[in-house]
Order: sequence, then structure tokens, then C-alpha cells
Amino acid sequence: MTSEPSRRLARLTVDLSAICANWRRFADLAGPGEAAAVVKADAYGLGVRDVAPALALEGARTFFVATLGEALDLRDTLGEAQTIYVLNGPTYDDVGAFAPARLFPVLNSLDQIGIWKAAGAEVAAALHIDTGMNRLGLPLTDLGAAHDALARRDMPLVMSHLACASDPAHALNALQLKRFTEVAAHFPGARKSLAATSGAFCGAAYRFGLLRPGIGLYGDAGLDGDAQPLAPAATLDAPILQLRDIAAGETVGYGATFTAPAPMRTATIALGYADGYLRSASGRGYGVLAGARCPILGRVSMDLITLDVTAAGGAAEVGSRVEMLGANVPLRDVAAAAGTATYEVLTNLSGVARRHVRSAA
Ligand SMILES: *Cc1c(COP(=O)(O)O)cnc(C)c1O
Repeated sequence: MTSEPSRRLARLTVDLSAICANWRRFADLAGPGEAAAVVKADAYGLGVRDVAPALALEGARTFFVATLGEALDLRDTLGEAQTIYVLNGPTYDDVGAFAPARLFPVLNSLDQIGIWKAAGAEVAAALHIDTGMNRLGLPLTDLGAAHDALARRDMPLVMSHLACASDPAHALNALQLKRFTEVAAHFPGARKSLAATSGAFCGAAYRFGLLRPGIGLYGDAGLDGDAQPLAPAATLDAPILQLRDIAAGETVGYGATFTAPAPMRTATIALGYADGYLRSASGRGYGVLAGARCPILGRVSMDLITLDVTAAGGAAEVGSRVEMLGANVPLRDVAAAAGTATYEVLTNLSGVARRHVRSAA
């Protein structure tokens, strides 16, 4: 089998220097505290094997992933120096795998505390306390029992997670902050961590000793309203495979969901939902070619999207690359067009499109 030339394929370009600059911004916000790096889900789809070492070089010392498998891979990638926490915590089956790789679980329940203790491990683990999200984390009502189970030993890290930090004015933020502050006082020797990306922008009171940014490293501040103080880290572009001129009244794509109101020039590009470009952006998303905005016409197909490239004039040629995400097509616009979160736009691109990595400067 001959491999297809990459100029005929969609391409994801990951800008490691942008990711490092974004991390630096959180490190600055953390003040005397530290900024960790959340690299679960293959660094939000951008490639943990490239992203994590770049961040380690930039100075990141603490990493969070979701699963033990991710953590073992990350330990392989990073070597021994960095601290790695596993957000989902241990099970009876896998608890033995943590210590040999120097991985620290985040303990989320009395059960997990029991598992950790039964394994004879020392208390090098984080404790996640649920202060109102009702997802993972020790319920406040179990705190006394947990304290006893931990034999009143201190934890190196006590953390919680905000449910509504994308809206800094949401009342649940202040309530979670209050609960966390009270609970954390029971662990005087522990480092405290409450804020992920958007929480870091909720005010100094939310920052404590360790920030846990994820999406912020990859270019989105996670806030519902405001402008973005962060650098875009991912560019997705795809080449034009075919051009055509269609007349008013002609339709485009499956289901003939788009009807041309006027004559237009269309381009079909090599990108589709099989590459992770969400089908829900059908008829709503857009690309940019030579500064011209090119709306998606009709449905996104498995490997193809058809765009209106009339405004791009002579720049629209077979082989020209249309930007579908990047500096000219903000992540937030793509998410809005697809009716989803920036997080899902990025994680969908994991491992599918071709990836070029620009080294950190
Ligand atoms: C995913 C996650 C983060 C990172 O969240 P972002 O919004 O991407 O910054 C931090 N903490 C926990 C517990 C998480 O699950």
C-alpha cells in the first residue's frame, strides 16, 4: 500500500510555544504558588507526548491525568522528576501499580481511602473533597470518617473542583470556596488546590497553592463571556480537493440541506467527522482562506466538507489549505457552531488528523 501524500490530508498543527506561554500565564497567576498542568485525554487531543515534555521544560512540575493508564504512559514520557496525580483514583485491582511508577492517586471516597490504606501505601496521595459538584470527591458528610481513616495524618494535597467557574458571578462558586476553606483547615500541612482554568480567573481567593489548568493551556479561558487572554494552540487546516461553480437553486451535500440563493463557487475539502470535525457544525461552521470567511454549505460528511469560497477569489485552488480552526477561526466559534464546548472540539481531534508540532522556542 502506498501512503497518500500529506498535502492531500487534513492537518492539525500544535503550537507548543503557545501552550508553554499559556502555562506561564497560570504560573504567574499562581503567584507564590504553583501551576500544575492537566494533560488528561491526550492533552485534550493535542498529543500528550509532545505537550507534556514541552511543559516540563518550561518548568511544570506537577501533572494531572484521569486514568492510571494515562499516568503510566506519562511517566514513560517524562522520566522520574515530575509529580503525577491520577484524578480517578485507585481500585483494588490496580492500586499496586502506583508506587512502582511513583504515581499518586487522588482519593475520592472512603472506599478509595480504604483501598489505598489496605495496599500499605504511605499517605502520598491527594484527597479530593466534593464541595458541591457531586461528581467525584469525598462527600462532606464522610469527612470525619475519612479523617479517622487517615489516622489524622496530613495529606500532601487537598483539592476540590468548581462546578460553575465559567461564570464567575455564579453563587455556587462562593459557596464552594467557603466550604473548601473550612474543610481544608483540617489539613494544615497540605497544599490546597481549588481552581482549574476558569477558576483561576475568578479572583485571588480561589487560587490557593496549586492551580490545575487544562483547557487554558490549550487556548481557551473557559469563561462564558469574556475575551480570551490566552494564545490559540491548535490549527486545523485541510486542502481543497475539488472546486465547482453552482447556479442559484442548486443544492449541496447529503439531504440537499443547502440551496444556493445565488451563483457561487464551492470547494470541497478533505476533512469530515471521521477526522473529528463535529457533524453538528453542518451549515453553521466556517473556514478562512486568504482572509476570506468561507461558510460550510450543507452537511459535514465523513471525510468531506463543502464550503462557499466565492469570497476567496483566486486563492481558492485545488490544493489550497483552508483553515478550519486556529488564529483566524477561534476555537470558541467552532464550539459555538457545533453546539458544544471548546473541550469537545479539541478532544475530538485526538490522533485523527495529521499533526505537526512546532517546537517550543
Ligand atoms: C479536567 C479537570 C481539571 C482541568 O479543567 P480545565 O477546565 O480544563 O482547566 C482540573 N481539575 C479536575 C478535577 C479536572 O477533572
